[in-house]
Amino acid sequence: MIVIIGAGESGIGAALLAKKLDQPVYVTDVGVIKEKYKEELISNKIDFEESGHDFDRLKNAKLAIVSPGIPDGANPIKVLMEAGVEIISEIEYGYRNTDATIVAITGSNGKTTTTGLIYHILRDAEYDVAIGGNYGIAMCRVLASRQPEYFVLELSSFQLEKVNTFRADIAIILNVTPDHLDRYEYNMDLYVKAKMNIVNNQTIENMIIYNGDDRYIQSNLDKRNLPSTRRISLSTKDYNSGLVSTDTNLVFQTQLKGVHNLFNASCAIAACRGIGLSEIQIAFGLATFTNMAHRMESIAVIKGVQYINDSKATNVDAVFYALDAMTTPVIWIAGGIDKGNDYTQIDQLVKKKVKALICMTAYPEPLTTAFGGVIEEILITENVDEAIRVAAHYAEDGDTVLLSPACASFDLFNNYMDRGERFRDAALRLLVEQN
Ligand code: ADP
Repeated sequence: MIVIIGAGESGIGAALLAKKLDQPVYVTDVGVIKEKYKEELISNKIDFEESGHDFDRLKNAKLAIVSPGIPDGANPIKVLMEAGVEIISEIEYGYRNTDATIVAITGSNGKTTTTGLIYHILRDAEYDVAIGGNYGIAMCRVLASRQPEYFVLELSSFQLEKVNTFRADIAIILNVTPDHLDRYEYNMDLYVKAKMNIVNNQTIENMIIYNGDDRYIQSNLDKRNLPSTRRISLSTKDYNSGLVSTDTNLVFQTQLKGVHNLFNASCAIAACRGIGLSEIQIAFGLATFTNMAHRMESIAVIKGVQYINDSKATNVDAVFYALDAMTTPVIWIAGGIDKGNDYTQIDQLVKKKVKALICMTAYPEPLTTAFGGVIEEILITENVDEAIRVAAHYAEDGDTVLLSPACASFDLFNNYMDRGERFRDAALRLLVEQN
């Protein structure tokens, strides 16, 4: 019997795959299972329990698949370990049940963009490709319905735990900046180590594409006794002045904004070349890709002022790149739940570019403390419409109003998408009012 701990997207995905493979399975969750997932379990005749675990049943499992949100200290994991049950992650289970060529992407920022871009280029070039992982749809859910030839996988550090045999044909490590440190005992080395599991088990035939400017990645790779995999290191000098095709008749173009996206695109190009796509195939996909919402998303131009939604920027590093990409004075809307941010990294950029800061949060202190002496105009609000109105008041023709919060959203919103959508709606209401 396979037991699946946790009935979220990965748990349900794994259960569907087990069912499809005719492997006996049941799902257990310490809390109440979401209605939509419960319906899926029932309609697929998959056994489950909720609001607690039957530990005796757990102990008798042959294999346990654990959801990425569950830390090692959790009770069911302890029980499974004591009973000697093999414990793997949903990604490992998916990997054991596919022959797809795997392109796996990890990093603190840029995963979704890079994953989406590679998938888009491959699909445009008519490859049989699937997308999944942290991207929203579980790898196993996809595999329960079909076996693609290529799988582009976005992997968070949590998903890179308990992946003992997982091997990426092409692994991309974008960057490692402090985030989610609470899960790693506030130890940066443990966090980096989890991310670097993405290169475990690679052989001489496989490829690593990584950020050559990132000292954490570099030093961790140096420490590892990796077989001579093909390694591609990309540094600022490689993409700073644009994306260059090896075909001199071609010009690579992208709609993505900012130097960070040139880096993401360079990684995507290297991966596509590794797979064997031609320069022209890459150029086509690159030119037609538009990023997902909430990532430097242009909403509207109102009275000459550009409104940009970068709600997904939930850490300082992402804000650094957002501000860096700005070519006009900025009215910056930021704030939320601060995960112990160090704002010194963006001090100079803020001084240079930000005219006014609107703290849209119930907890403005970290921002007001960091920027009190730096920005003349600082306002505090908990209301999106008010934030937009105040921003419009400060903005002059040619300026940009940028929502790039550096913080999680849970003080005022359900999640970063909710925050971005409400920002977008408020900006569009202003557009209607002003016309
Ligand atoms: P992730 O999936 O890793 O959270 P996203 O592609 O969703 O990454 O982008 C999250 C935020 O980080 C956005 O605000 C985006 O503009 C910014 N970002 C994207 N790529 C990078 C990068 N390479 N370095 C730093 N910030 C980035």
